Amino acid sequence: MKKTILALAAALLATPASPNTLIDNVNGIQVDPNGALVRFRALLIDDNGKVIRTIGANELDDLDVRRRIDEHGQTLLPGFVDAHGHVMELGRDALQLDLVGTRSLAELQQRLGDYAAAHPEAKWILGAGWNQELWPDKKFPTAAELDSIVPDRPVVLERVDGHALVANSAAMRGAGVTPQTPAPVGGEITDGVFVDNAKALINQAIPAPTQADMDQAFAKAQDILLGFGVTGVGSMSTSLDDWNTFRRAGDAGTLKVRLMVYLLGLDPLKVVPHPTPWLYDDRLRAVGVKFFADGALGSRGAWLKQPYSDAPGTTGNRLHSDADLRSQEDAAAAARFQLATHAIGDAANAQVISAYEWLDSKYGLNRRWRIEHAQVVDCTDLLRIGHGHMIASMQPTHQTSDRLMAEKRLGLGRLKCAYAWQSMLRTGAKLAFGTDFPVESPNPFPGLSAAISRQDINGQPPGGWLPAERLTFEQALGAYTRGAAYAGFAEDKIGALEPGRWADFIIVDRDPTKDERQSLARAQVIETWIAGKRVWSRAPSASPTERGQ
Ligand SMILES: [Zn+2]
Repeated sequence: MKKTILALAAALLATPASPNTLIDNVNGIQVDPNGALVRFRALLIDDNGKVIRTIGANELDDLDVRRRIDEHGQTLLPGFVDAHGHVMELGRDALQLDLVGTRSLAELQQRLGDYAAAHPEAKWILGAGWNQELWPDKKFPTAAELDSIVPDRPVVLERVDGHALVANSAAMRGAGVTPQTPAPVGGEITDGVFVDNAKALINQAIPAPTQADMDQAFAKAQDILLGFGVTGVGSMSTSLDDWNTFRRAGDAGTLKVRLMVYLLGLDPLKVVPHPTPWLYDDRLRAVGVKFFADGALGSRGAWLKQPYSDAPGTTGNRLHSDADLRSQEDAAAAARFQLATHAIGDAANAQVISAYEWLDSKYGLNRRWRIEHAQVVDCTDLLRIGHGHMIASMQPTHQTSDRLMAEKRLGLGRLKCAYAWQSMLRTGAKLAFGTDFPVESPNPFPGLSAAISRQDINGQPPGGWLPAERLTFEQALGAYTRGAAYAGFAEDKIGALEPGRWADFIIVDRDPTKDERQSLARAQVIETWIAGKRVWSRAPSASPTERGQ
């Protein structure tokens, strides 16, 4: 007892009078509550990792702080919040064999051989990203061509669009597929290539990931996100296994990125029946439920009011009747969850808006119903999004990736209110930006650049695509920080470096307000800090000078 008191007294004596940290000599940039850009030259943090205040250029520096960290004039931004990403898929994909950009069968075989040699522990070799259209002869790969590289272990490699895979003989044996196996309706099998509905024959045989696999994938995902300066994520389509993985990381003290979790449909509610409080020092919270109203534009799964311009026989995939969508969403809303519904086509967006209006009449206007993507909206429906105080959760890099494909699918006439960021803001809707990683890279800078230019990383098209929808830099940064935090009911915790919020911030290699757009897209993160602690750094040798007392 006496010993304890002595130790306590010693600890009290050792605590300095001003137990704060000053991140000093920075080019600090953020967006204020009114959407204006503000600058500061230092950031004062308490010992719990929360912001005390920012310090402006003309404020006197007579602060008595214990620790002063000189960042040598580098640019400091709030940590990015990606409103819509798929965390476990990001990690899983990064650990698998990456075949994106292969220019020939020989290159695919080379990468496969290297990966197999480097991963003797992998019982099944899984990969994705090949596209035979980029190869000289445009021929699909075959089972025999994989067997010649890996004969003894199953290999399954998905095509870049996810609509086909190629399997080697060991994988087909493992799946019980023989030359006599018929292709199911809506599928095709040719020399080890399984298309659409036939893919399930192989996929059902792939062993489910173990807890250790999932822990490894999550660790990888966090590492990637921190390297891009993403400190918070709206974790979309979260399964119970995913949720349990996040919990294990929280329990083990390895959860770093703050996750606002959207459970996938109603099933997980059997185990997580209501939104949880924030767990692990505001790093994890189940906040909402994710639904799908339609598919995607590329595969003509987006549900349109009028037929596709390049496929007049179809209007895409409607996934729910109006009554079905309402009743499922009503069940989640009644359990106090926020709703986030995927809607790409104009018919899907109209259906979701109507469902939300109906839910508003029941639950009031303060529930922040989210439309995920809100890509192609009929201009007559756009105002309803603002009137309903809904959140448009959008991804600027989808616009630059989809542009040419969207013109083919819809024709320019129907694109007036597509990817309509500026129009969306004008309706009064809240805008939350993200990337939908791993569909797009989680790197927020190409998105910021696209948002203000409507041009891709190569500056295409000149002048920007439908340039009236361009945002100002502060609007775009706001959607990627404050807006995304608001969209997850986390604006009192993250998204801005203001008193009482977490000191989640990044140091980047250039001033994003000064550089030309193409340069902004290539900006790199140098350090990432969460709760006042540096959790990622590009080069250990480039670490800032620290002075303690
Ligand atoms: Zn998504």
